[in-house]
Amino acid sequence: MIICKSADEIRLMQKAGVLVAEVFLQLEKILRPGVTTGYLDRIAEDLIVKKGAHPAFKGYVGRISSRAFPASICVSINEEVVHGIPGKRTIRDGDLVSIDVGVKLNGFYGDAARSYRIGNISKIADRLYGATLDALNASIDKCETGNRLSDISHAIESRACQDGFSVVRDFVGHGIGKKMHEDPQVLNYGLPGQGPMLKKGMVLAIEPMLNIGNSDVEVLDDLWTVVTVDRKYSCHFEDTVAITESGPLVLTRL
Ligand code: MG
Repeated sequence: MIICKSADEIRLMQKAGVLVAEVFLQLEKILRPGVTTGYLDRIAEDLIVKKGAHPAFKGYVGRISSRAFPASICVSINEEVVHGIPGKRTIRDGDLVSIDVGVKLNGFYGDAARSYRIGNISKIADRLYGATLDALNASIDKCETGNRLSDISHAIESRACQDGFSVVRDFVGHGIGKKMHEDPQVLNYGLPGQGPMLKKGMVLAIEPMLNIGNSDVEVLDDLWTVVTVDRKYSCHFEDTVAITESGPLVLTRL
């Protein structure tokens, strides 16, 4: 069941979204070669807790893993798609780093991911980055009342195909609100014009994951980190978007 949010609830969700955006601002200041992913996690967690929020991923038990997620953010590098666990790994020149931040504030969740090009990255990785960001923006443009859910999905897949990239099919975006994962699932592929009609008050976390190689992914022995089977680079962006009468309202951007 898709839970539509009132204008007041969307205002509360925007507070959670703004905090997510502020965490990214903070991380961008320290993200450089030599920094460990564990340090990024500590900085993010400190800010989230200081603002009276709760890091949504910490302790999360997902549908694919019986192991509670041990950190506050996900940091997924290069061939890692999503759910990378921060720790001792050091960011290096040439890395494509995806960071996923989720918070719970005033009973509502905010969820977003950004990818970052560290130093001199390869041409193809740079193109992948641009295509993934474009795909997110194209899909947000579809968040208009009267469109259908799969118009979002189709916009993502179309942009990926334009550059010959594939989209991850095993992981999807989602409704979001008082729970981090609500209905509906937001696929990153599909024909347009299908699924539920988009309505005022729906809030969706849209998260394109594009791969240089094919769409196959697998989970590592840590029971969380998702990597491409061919170990080619993957890129991930995400925003939490509310559908309003006046169009899409991106809650996780400043
Ligand atoms: Mg998400």
